[in-house]
Amino acid sequence: MKTFRKLVQSVVVLFLLLSIASLYAGERKQANPLRDEVLLHLNRELPSFQADIIELADFCKKTFNSSASEDLNSPELKKFFHKFHAFYISACRKLVNMISVKTEVTVSNDFFQGFFLPTDNNPVFVQQATDILNKLKVYSRRKDLKYKVGILEGNGMEAFAKGGEMIVLSEEIVRLPADESAAVIAHEMSHLEKRDYLKSMIARELNRAIIAGHFPENSDKFGKILEYALARFQRFHEYETDIQAVNLMQKAGYKPDGMISLLERLLHPSDSGNIINKDHPVISDRINAVKRHLLRLRK
Ligand SMILES: [Zn+2]
Repeated sequence: MKTFRKLVQSVVVLFLLLSIASLYAGERKQANPLRDEVLLHLNRELPSFQADIIELADFCKKTFNSSASEDLNSPELKKFFHKFHAFYISACRKLVNMISVKTEVTVSNDFFQGFFLPTDNNPVFVQQATDILNKLKVYSRRKDLKYKVGILEGNGMEAFAKGGEMIVLSEEIVRLPADESAAVIAHEMSHLEKRDYLKSMIARELNRAIIAGHFPENSDKFGKILEYALARFQRFHEYETDIQAVNLMQKAGYKPDGMISLLERLLHPSDSGNIINKDHPVISDRINAVKRHLLRLRK
């Protein structure tokens, strides 16, 4: 578990963004009752998705056998990924509610059994983060979840949630100004509210079903295309989650601008922090999206 923990830590440095995908990849070979439940319902519902899948598979073959596939910004490709995105959304809308929250929570709790090291969960930081969590959770739409925090010892900005009820933060996140710590906690809480981890799992299993059914001989090429479609779907969740988090922060009495200063911190890491890729375009896009949302709120 310690090795896996190190792997997780190194992968989730690009905090708030890629954690869901990477954690999922790391555990694929282990038994996972949540995935079993996803597969059960997905296989049952697959006939109702067939028309969409055939249309997407045809579009995929046509688009990626033409020269348009050279340019990710070409109108054909944009249209393709747009269609894919709409498909994931409608499939998730149908499947998410079929999958029990209890299984999601149990699988998440099992994952975190033995995950924390003895030096983690410093009680001072746990208390500080829990105080913020308690203010935010009053306004959470998910009264069925018993949110809790786990605190990783050490430097570096890290935060992730993995379905269920647990929000994992590094000490450095808790040391930030309260509005910024609240931004991180509200962001992770919003992922849990929306069951984004589960949605990514569903989309990944849909990709597998599409590849197996339509591209068994070209699984490498088309697998990469579908991975990209999935990454776009996850990126969409990040924007959606930031906006939901800002709304939550405002209701709980935190300054929503804390989200902007937090994201700016990720964009321009100080010398002391060992934060993520500088000038990551996605972060600047997220800042702009949050700014636009705050302008709308203040009108
Ligand atoms: Zn996120």
